[in-house]
Formats: sequence, C-alpha cells, structure tokens
Amino acid sequence: MEIKTFENIDRIYIDQSAVESSVAQRVYALFPVDKIEVVSQKPLSQLEGRMSSEDFNKSKRNLYITEYKGEFFKRCPGAKPGLTCCNYFVLNLGLQCNMNCSYCYLQSYINTPVMTIYSNLEKALSELKSIANENPEKYFRVGTGETVDSLSLDEITLYSRRLIEFFKDLPKWKLEFKTKSSKVDQFLDVPHAHNVICSWSVNPQNVIDSEEHNTASLEQRLTAAEKCLSKGFTIAFHVDPMIWHPDWKLNYSNLVQSITKKFSPQDLIYITVGALRFQPEQRHIMRERFSSQNMVNTAEMFQSKDGKMRYDQNLRTEMFEYIQSEFKKRNSSYRVSLCMEVPETWSMTMASSPSQIPELKDLFVGGR
Ligand code: SF4
Repeated sequence: MEIKTFENIDRIYIDQSAVESSVAQRVYALFPVDKIEVVSQKPLSQLEGRMSSEDFNKSKRNLYITEYKGEFFKRCPGAKPGLTCCNYFVLNLGLQCNMNCSYCYLQSYINTPVMTIYSNLEKALSELKSIANENPEKYFRVGTGETVDSLSLDEITLYSRRLIEFFKDLPKWKLEFKTKSSKVDQFLDVPHAHNVICSWSVNPQNVIDSEEHNTASLEQRLTAAEKCLSKGFTIAFHVDPMIWHPDWKLNYSNLVQSITKKFSPQDLIYITVGALRFQPEQRHIMRERFSSQNMVNTAEMFQSKDGKMRYDQNLRTEMFEYIQSEFKKRNSSYRVSLCMEVPETWSMTMASSPSQIPELKDLFVGGR
C-alpha cells in the first residue's frame, strides 16, 4: 500500500542555509511546527557510517532539507565499463527514498541516517543552463530518479513543476521522471513542451506486495500514467527489476496484459526490461531488513562481469525474451529494449539495444 507522504515523516530538519528556500517554506506550510527543527549542522551524524538495519529503516522517516554543495549534473551509472547503456544524464535532487523495496540499491551505499532533499534546485538549473549554452547543437536526456524517487516526495518539493517549466525552454532536451509512486496531480496543469517523459517501474502485483513495500499498487501506477498521457506527457514503462518466482511467467504475462489493455504502442515511447541485480555487499542488509523467505532473499544469484549479483545468464535471456514476446504477440509495434545489462545479454536476446531501434535512437543517443 502506497504511503501517505506526510504521515510517514516523523521529523524534519532544516539546515540554516536552507530556511529561506521554497522547499523549506513549503515544509512550514505542510507540517506541524513541532515536527520541524532548524539545525546548524547535519543531524544524527553520530550514526553516520555504521548504520544498523534499524537505523536505515528510521532514515526513511527523518527528512533533512539542505543545500547540495557539489555539482548536480553527472552521467548515468549505466555508462561504466562492462555495461551497455543509453546515453543518459542524472540530476540528483536528494538522497534516500520514502518507499521501501527489498532490492533497493540505496541499501548498498547510503550511510546517512536522514532522507535528504536538496534545497538549491536553482543551482542545478543554472548548471543545466550552462551545459545548454555550451552545447547548442546537442540535446540531452536528463533523469531525476537515481538516488531519490522522482515523484514520491514531489508533493513536498513541487520540483516537478519547476523542472517542467525549465525544460519548456529546451524543447529538444528530454526530462524523465521515474517513479513507483502515483503522485502526479501536483504537476498535471503545468504547460510543457511535450519533452517530459513520465515513466513507471512496474511489476506484477504479487511482486509489489512481496518486495516493493510502501509503493503504489500496479493499478495506481497505471492510472497515474493514464492521467499524464491525457495531459500530453510522454509515457514509458520499465519492467524492472523482473524477479523470478514459481509463477513468474503467468504473473508477468498478466502484467503485460494490464499494460497493453490501457496503452497502445503509440502511447508508449518505450518499454525497458531489466532483471534483479544488486551489489554483493547488499545481501546481508537485505536479509536483516526483509523476510528470509521473500523472492529476493531466496534468489540464486551469480556475480557477473560488472561485479553485480545477477541471475544466471540463460535465465535472464529467457526472462527478457518472454517479456518481449508477450508484448509483441499483442502488438508487434511495442518498442521493448534492455537497460542496465551486460553486453552479452544484448547479443543473446532478441531484445534490441536502444540504439538499434530507429524510434529510440534519437532518444537514447545524446548529441547529434
Ligand atoms: S522506489 Fe526505488 S529508490 Fe525507493 S526504495 Fe524502491 S528501489 Fe529504492
């Protein structure tokens, strides 16, 4: 069941430097004042670096509003040796997530006991403006959902509204929100340049129930996507991470059925597919935080060339081909691609790399 953003936050810390920011002002308007504390240094820093699984759980309920001091704009983590990935840029507007997926990769590297929202969005936008000015002949694709879900805290920040407005002046660029929430109502009225992709990671409802705690149900995600489509936003789905379980074929077939019942190939700019993967050091915290019997903790995984634990190559190939065929048998025009996979998988499956699909080439390959 999707969490209600405001009820699940116990305490909000606002750094002195961020008190005047729009997000801090919004926090004052939305939350009871006794939940809010202005601080001059990072709160709970005594826990930093040696967090227990309980500390990690609590970090999702403590919100910290502060400025980000470094550079906002960096390359997608998929662009590493050993991985084939789309040309993609990441804009991190916070750190940690108020939802709770068993496989979440944030568990492998977050060592701070607060969920952070960066208050200086305008600095991020000024960096983007400089990149646009320095590269007038290129266009970029920018995603916001790497270290924080793009939309699950957006009722607090309303950053989606500002970003959509900003990208209206960069019509050749693409902005992508990636989410497992259903929180879209706060930006549906914003005029845009038809360059905003709203995308959902989706799984069958039984996988959501078992592994994606506090996220929106499949039905809620699809309904949110319908709302965005009705306002002219571009829609995409990530069937990712696919998680093996005894009835996986039936359940993923039903998932594809649910999507294709509501969305024609023309409604979806792309569908990407990926399978469960995580860093080896993540296993112990997943076991501590979630049932030892869940789908992720009982999975048989092997270390792949990029160091991550993945299913056996043949199983991954079977899973990707199955999803591809489920879409194609309903309508061969659905555009299905892999992402965050090692090159061997691209060559072993009939799924294409984004650059091999004419409709996707412009979207995924930055710079022309
Ligand atoms: S929605 Fe994404 S960031 Fe949030 S817990 Fe799940 S995997 Fe992690």
